[in-house]
Amino acid sequence: MARRAFISGISGQDGAYLSKLLLEKGYEVHGGVRRTGGSASSRLEELGVADAVVLHDFDVLDLAGVQRVLERVAPDEIYNLAAQSFVGASFEQPIHSADVSALGTMRLLECLRQAKAGSRFYQASTSEMFGSADKAPQSESTPFNPRSPYGIAKLFAHLSTVNYREAHGLYACSGILFNHESPLRGVEFVTRQISLGLAKIKYGRQPVLELGNLGARRDWGFAGDYVEGMWRILQQPEPDDFVLATGRTTSIREFAEIVAKTHGWQLAWRGEGLSEEGFDSASGQTLVRVNPANIRRMDVAETVGDASKAHGTLGWRHRLELEGLAEMMAEADARRVRDGARYS
Ligand code: NDP
Repeated sequence: MARRAFISGISGQDGAYLSKLLLEKGYEVHGGVRRTGGSASSRLEELGVADAVVLHDFDVLDLAGVQRVLERVAPDEIYNLAAQSFVGASFEQPIHSADVSALGTMRLLECLRQAKAGSRFYQASTSEMFGSADKAPQSESTPFNPRSPYGIAKLFAHLSTVNYREAHGLYACSGILFNHESPLRGVEFVTRQISLGLAKIKYGRQPVLELGNLGARRDWGFAGDYVEGMWRILQQPEPDDFVLATGRTTSIREFAEIVAKTHGWQLAWRGEGLSEEGFDSASGQTLVRVNPANIRRMDVAETVGDASKAHGTLGWRHRLELEGLAEMMAEADARRVRDGARYS
């Protein structure tokens, strides 16, 4: 009989890639979607799997609903991807972010504890829990020091997952994932802002791309590689936590250069601080400006992860390098803008 998986947050970037992977592995895939009035399945449609998954009305704010859906689906594996996942928005909506990302996780864990059904549980933890860590690269043993309401909420969820494993014997694991991107990344995230913004400039839909802190450095991988790691985490004989990362850190400035190159521009820089501009060195056209409104308070300067435990125990490694990822995103957004397709 096919194994059954339930994905909360199936409408998001990772939900779509994970659905595709699990379907390819022969799973019956169920997912929870909120009633938001928007399309819950656009990313699933983009990967061609919308008709192959079973969707359930689901909101991690609603304990009774969570319980009902889990009882109905009776999954072998649960992937808790539901979150208010945008760091910037968590400063504006800290209580909502905590309710969804922190207490939402505990609602699921509590239902699992009551059900005693033996489902395996994956929690989507994040490198944002490390915040301004003293040490780089960051591994499973690096102390946490989150710098945003998002990171704090996720740390609560992470520690709750560990606690339910240790106190109640649940098979509950966390994947501490560094940033992972794709053409399905939300448009509020900087990599998508770059790929979409430069595509719009290319097709004359926008004069310039406005960014924030160009020097922030991130460990960026491809979401399609990371969902493979999530699945491997839940296949281990004993539940445990793992960092997934590429080990390479790149600045926003450099990411923009790679995307610009895909469109035939040589992005160079002039000016400093808020006056810094990115321009095409052949034509002199200004492509990037700094908008102070985009500079995040309490930004984390750099993230870089050490995934050696995942390499050794899970046999997991990222496959797509940043150049391939940036090109993939640039080309997908160029196609969308050219064809007048939806961006998000
Ligand atoms: P997305 O923002 O694309 O997806 C988040 C999902 O959570 C969406 O499906 C969203 O639904 C859903 N959601 C939000 N609120 C609720 C709620 N109240 N009840 C049920 N579902 C809800 O994130 P990603 O796919 O990029 O990330 C997946 C998970 O991994 C998230 O938890 C994220 O925090 C975490 N993570 C992501 C990293 C990354 O770089 N991508 C890095 C580390 C961790 P809706 O469509 O209705 O908004």
